Amino acid sequence: MSAIAAPPVTAEPGQLTKETYRGRIHPDWCPGCGDFSVLAALQTALFELGLQPHQACVISGIGCSSNLPGYINTYGMHTLHGRALAVSTGVKLGNHALKVICTGGDGDGYGIGGNHFVHTMRRNVDLTYIVMDNQIYGLTTGQCSPTSVKGMKTKSTPYGSVENPINPIPMAIVGGATYVARAFSGKQKHMVEMIKGAIQHKGFALVDVFSPCVTYNKDNTYQWFNPRVKMLEDQGHDPTDFQKAIERGFQWGEEIPIGLSCTRAKARSAFAISEFQRSRRKASSRNCCSSSLAFYFLIFTSDFLPSN
Ligand code: SF4
Repeated sequence: MSAIAAPPVTAEPGQLTKETYRGRIHPDWCPGCGDFSVLAALQTALFELGLQPHQACVISGIGCSSNLPGYINTYGMHTLHGRALAVSTGVKLGNHALKVICTGGDGDGYGIGGNHFVHTMRRNVDLTYIVMDNQIYGLTTGQCSPTSVKGMKTKSTPYGSVENPINPIPMAIVGGATYVARAFSGKQKHMVEMIKGAIQHKGFALVDVFSPCVTYNKDNTYQWFNPRVKMLEDQGHDPTDFQKAIERGFQWGEEIPIGLSCTRAKARSAFAISEFQRSRRKASSRNCCSSSLAFYFLIFTSDFLPSN
């Protein structure tokens, strides 16, 4: 069942602190879980952007990381497995002024919710999607996930995974996301910048975070990532270079890029949604809802091509 959290506690003007964003519930994640760093980075990002708790809504699916809306003082909703992006789209359509931030794990987002991931990207819906990617199903005690590397031994793959993993970075770039970034729980300051950029971006923004599961993933640990992750910002990467962004997104092994991989500036979905609203108002005055819906889909689909 889904649950809607109580309205957030707002701060008096000028009284906003990082503490303002502390939720009513203390996280029950395992000590050392990468998700603590993501929660702190999101709280810091909201604080540094000066957003009041009532101006943001954090929506999740199911999984360890999907408990996050309970730990943060904003509007929030803990929804169904893999359905957080569908709910987030509805929330954004209902209230354009709200900063909608969808959070979850790799299994929830790229597996069970893979269909919604693809279609929310091609629609370029104006929201931020933070995926705590630990390359395993943690809540169900350690099964192979869509981003588990080939050969990884887990409870569900005792002889090693025989499947190729999903690579969310190139997938998002070609799928129509207009802000695609990667972060690592061991580099929280950098993650704050990635999340701030995503929240400020007009359009669909993905921040895929390497967020180690210290209990069930003994391969992709902090120690494994630390020497490998390299910031694109330090390497002169141009995030408007579509081809290069895809190429760097495939890099894995001794060097793994993190940072802003790809961005396309056009605020196309914001246009689409506002046109939909105008159209809906006109249509309701003519009592003709179907024409407004047709117009809405026409704009979304004509908005598909990944041009810069
Ligand atoms: Fe984090 Fe893994 Fe523990 Fe879940 S099982 S809280 S992902 S460390």
